[in-house]
Amino acid sequence: MTEKPWLAHYPPEISHTLNYESIPVHEYLTRAYKKFPLKVAIHFLGRDVSYKELYESSLKFANYLKSLGIQKGDRVAIMLPNCPQGVIGYYGALFAGAIVVQTNPLYTEREISYQMKDSGAKVILALDILFPRISKVIKDTDLENIILTGIKDYLPFPKSLVYPFIQKKQYGFSVKVEHRGMNHLFTEIMKVAKPSPIEMPFDFEEDIALLQYTGGTTGFPKGVMLTHKNLISNASMCNAWLYKCKEGEESILGILPFFHVYGMTAVLILSVLLGNRMILLPKFDVETALKTIDKQKPTLFPGAPTIYIGILNHPDVQKYDLSSIVACLSGSAALPVEIQDKFEKVTGGKLVEGYGLTETSPVTHANLIYSDQRVKGSVGIPWPDTESVILGVESTTPLPPGEIGEIAVRGPQVMKGYWNRPEDTEMTMRDGWFLTGDLGYMNESGYFFIVDRKKDLIIAGGYNIYPRDVEEVLYEHPAIQECVVAGVPDPYRGETVKAYIVLKDGVATTEEELDKFCRENLAAFKVPRIYEFRKELPKTAVGKILRRNLIEEEKEKLKQVALES
Ligand code: AMP
Repeated sequence: MTEKPWLAHYPPEISHTLNYESIPVHEYLTRAYKKFPLKVAIHFLGRDVSYKELYESSLKFANYLKSLGIQKGDRVAIMLPNCPQGVIGYYGALFAGAIVVQTNPLYTEREISYQMKDSGAKVILALDILFPRISKVIKDTDLENIILTGIKDYLPFPKSLVYPFIQKKQYGFSVKVEHRGMNHLFTEIMKVAKPSPIEMPFDFEEDIALLQYTGGTTGFPKGVMLTHKNLISNASMCNAWLYKCKEGEESILGILPFFHVYGMTAVLILSVLLGNRMILLPKFDVETALKTIDKQKPTLFPGAPTIYIGILNHPDVQKYDLSSIVACLSGSAALPVEIQDKFEKVTGGKLVEGYGLTETSPVTHANLIYSDQRVKGSVGIPWPDTESVILGVESTTPLPPGEIGEIAVRGPQVMKGYWNRPEDTEMTMRDGWFLTGDLGYMNESGYFFIVDRKKDLIIAGGYNIYPRDVEEVLYEHPAIQECVVAGVPDPYRGETVKAYIVLKDGVATTEEELDKFCRENLAAFKVPRIYEFRKELPKTAVGKILRRNLIEEEKEKLKQVALES
């Protein structure tokens, strides 16, 4: 066995060391603008934004942020679905020297408050409909200014005229905010701000571009510090992997949300790196996705298994022309082989599985795209400049092929650390290796396999849910004495959230009441779908609840059902 057996599989077109330009993320936008000023950078529900418009709008946004007092290293939050304002806000904040904090628009007041406080964000760019939620928590945070924008702001006429009515019907209310005081309107900024370039020194290796929140390997949401180098190196690796793609000629379908690191790297950065067109959809809806592919003809379609499954299961999938799709990289969760085969048959393109995590910007491993060599169930081989080994408990010596241990990685995409949490950062590193918290093994030829998650992260329908987040809310309910939340197998969502509850003596409550309570305090995707009331919960000798035992019980039950049917 060679030291890096996976290198034997690299095709001659991919070098295992990369040569990217060491310039900050936003300078790739300057480069794309200079090369392709009139090419379409963004397509959004019928409206096109050229690289010239994107570049100038980003500079306007940057100059406006500076006029609000934003300085190098200040945090600017973005709470938007995928839309042009999200791209402009992202590159604009970086031009201004700020650190972007991506925030999920589904977050409740409690979750927004936690993230704003932890990151210390001074400005938030958000969807107008979120204004009531944000204004309720603002006094507990460092937020000094709110910039609001509406989906309609970037819709073509007459969609822009009709949209406010649709929105009012959908949400039951509409929001009218004036451009005054701490409230600012995106449309006004685009009118008044100047697109003048900003001179600012940047340290490619050290400067943080993004704080991306994740439960990481130890539970509570933490801000992962990703530097300009982390993001550019990972996007360049992706570009190297997709070596048949041509600069300025590809179209990337942007369904993955930008508030998740995968969508951000594989769509928001990669697209600009290549001077490509990104086709943005504000939310995943199978029918709209199919129509968009049919009409807009994307060539690249990064996604997660649930997205590809949703598309394949649509009753009219055959009616749409999906033949433009050339390459798809699936991440976030295991991709079933039958889905891969079926999707490739329907589209004629390639779909391969990759692996990674927020702390690695995110991708570290993937299967080869333009190769017929298929290693069933594997997440592939390490990307260029990336090394990976399997480590045993407390060990610093890699385990031999076939042995299960913790997957560890090393490469330029590995985070700088967790924001304000040096001890947590230290806990994830061993002898220069980043410990992923995932259990797996490598075969003789260097292909990696995920066995299980060491940590307790639940991935339901592509969303990451941290049990502790949900448990904290449940523990606030007056009837609950003890609870534990776990991800249990679910045929559609992959996993779903189940809460095991022990009630206080003599106190009663119902599933409906708990559901209502959770919905008031948690984003909908985190709300438990199943409740089970128990007299006690399984625990270790020191009283730690054994979540894994409950998951095993659940899997056993499913096995029994399968055997009996
Ligand atoms: P996130 O930080 O949100 O990107 O989540 C990272 C976690 O997703 C990893 O630690 C894995 O547990 C899981 N994950 C990512 N890709 C895969 C994959 N291909 N197969 C199984 N689990 C995956």
